[in-house]
Amino acid sequence: MPFVMELQPGGFVPAVRCDHCGNSVSAETGLILWSIDSPRAIGSAPVFVVCDQDCADALAARSPQSQLAAIALDAYLVTLVEDSLAIDADAVREREELAWAIERTRDEVDQALD
Ligand SMILES: [Zn+2]
Repeated sequence: MPFVMELQPGGFVPAVRCDHCGNSVSAETGLILWSIDSPRAIGSAPVFVVCDQDCADALAARSPQSQLAAIALDAYLVTLVEDSLAIDADAVREREELAWAIERTRDEVDQALD
């Protein structure tokens, strides 16, 4: 599973790992791959995430019978977030900051009452 929560000094943060080598994937070199041989009846194809063209070639070599298409990771994510899911990044950040502030205040009240 390429999308993970990575433990950093400040806590868990979302990250992307390569389906071939397991290393972190950067937005600059990351690629999304999918098989264009998926039956049309299914209507979708699972995707692989790789860190660069070398890993894309290595992953494609594991199943030479299937034809893979590729798109840059950043292009895939922008299209997914802004077009397919229509996520308003600023609204989500505001909501998450508010939820975090409410949680922090609740913890402080609980500690003051103990
Ligand atoms: Zn890789």
